[in-house]
Amino acid sequence: MRDRFGQLGILLGLACLLVAARAGATQSFDLVLRGGRVIDPETQLDAVRNVGIRDGVVQAVTAESLEGRETLDVRGLVVAPGFIDTHSHAQTPSGQTYQVRDGVTTALELEAGVHPFPGTQQQLEGVALIHYGASANYLFAREQVKGSTEAAVGERATSEEVTRALAKLEADLDRGALGIGLLLDYMSEAVDASELRKIFELGARRRQLIFIHMRRPARAGDPAGLSEVLELARATGAAIQICHIGSNAIGGIATFLEMIRSARAKGVDVSAETYPYTAGSTYIGAAVFGRDWQTAYGTTWADVEWPPTGERFSETTWKEYRAKFRDDRNALIIHHFNREEWLEQSLRDPLVMIASDAVPTRSLEERAHPRSMGTFARVLGVYVRERGVLTLSEAIRKMTLMPAQRLERLTPEMARKGRIQPGSDADITIFDPNTVNDRATFKEPNQFSAGIAHVLVGGSFVVRDGANVAGVHPGKPVLSGSTVD
Ligand SMILES: [Zn+2]
Repeated sequence: MRDRFGQLGILLGLACLLVAARAGATQSFDLVLRGGRVIDPETQLDAVRNVGIRDGVVQAVTAESLEGRETLDVRGLVVAPGFIDTHSHAQTPSGQTYQVRDGVTTALELEAGVHPFPGTQQQLEGVALIHYGASANYLFAREQVKGSTEAAVGERATSEEVTRALAKLEADLDRGALGIGLLLDYMSEAVDASELRKIFELGARRRQLIFIHMRRPARAGDPAGLSEVLELARATGAAIQICHIGSNAIGGIATFLEMIRSARAKGVDVSAETYPYTAGSTYIGAAVFGRDWQTAYGTTWADVEWPPTGERFSETTWKEYRAKFRDDRNALIIHHFNREEWLEQSLRDPLVMIASDAVPTRSLEERAHPRSMGTFARVLGVYVRERGVLTLSEAIRKMTLMPAQRLERLTPEMARKGRIQPGSDADITIFDPNTVNDRATFKEPNQFSAGIAHVLVGGSFVVRDGANVAGVHPGKPVLSGSTVD
């Protein structure tokens, strides 16, 4: 009997230990987000839940109460996957500071990219607030082969030169570049049909995604530039993403979206993104202004704004400024060429994701297009809450799951982003749906978005109680293939 009691005692003791271990497991979260409205676009969860985070990973999403070393009460706030921006030129500390205050946790330079990779990306190593990454920039590879920017954007390449430029791109892809950045419009007169086809063939062979700023046609709304890339994608099997479709389509947006839809129905692998502003921005010396841009955009000098003073151009001042700042890539103008109704059509379309086209800045004081600071909050504030163009969950899908799924072919890491589920990276944006909005304007762009309460990157607070957290740099490079741990 004694022995049996002894055994019972041991068994009871073991059971107690197991219970204690289980209780310990539920209490071992680093952080618990308590009582927020969790929206996960993949599982279509939209309910009040507690989120348990450990080691930078979401471990639990549950209605049951959770215990953690730290608990943050987020009642009344939306808990969403961190926003993923596939089109951000703002790969600088100040650019990231603005973007994280806009809810962005991953900002990638894919439309242009860098060359040779990782190039300027290195300046973010160890100081990044949010995750970053870049494609391989074909224009820069071409520039190295041709010997100058002028030749790269203005001269045809021999087939031997094209081969060399493409080999440079391949080396970038091997080093971790995410797809191919194709600024076709900037090389519109230089790149012929055969060169373009070879870029697409490379994209198809390497199973990459080509991010395209397509050729701008002579007349506003003409879809010739879109036809060209859709046809090449169909012929070669390359997957493509149309950058800032709203600013390329302008008044032709209905036709452009219809063409994309019908190409997809025929098996063409094409996606698109847009930013939520009716004006665009590029440098005053850009090649586009050497052509008949007034016909191309359906605008005139008075539709173009000079950000330092807010003045609108006349023919005289335009000529003067363009000559003076011709080679200054930071001499940006704001071109008011779009209309609300056209923009809303692209935002509403289920095929179009949100991306900022954020402009790089070297300091928090440097002026830039307000999309660099306020794109994501603007969609949530203006187009979801004020105008009802999108539902909240659909807007979040366009900022999180859609870009993550699109990029999964480039890196498996994206399967852990854009979601809030057990196993997802703890990149999380927590905002107040009643106050979230952009504050950056064309006149006063240097303003953080409102209503973004907390932002976690890899489980670390980068924004807390609506303010930047000092001294944290959890941003990591997002690299192609399996090179990321
Ligand atoms: Zn562009």
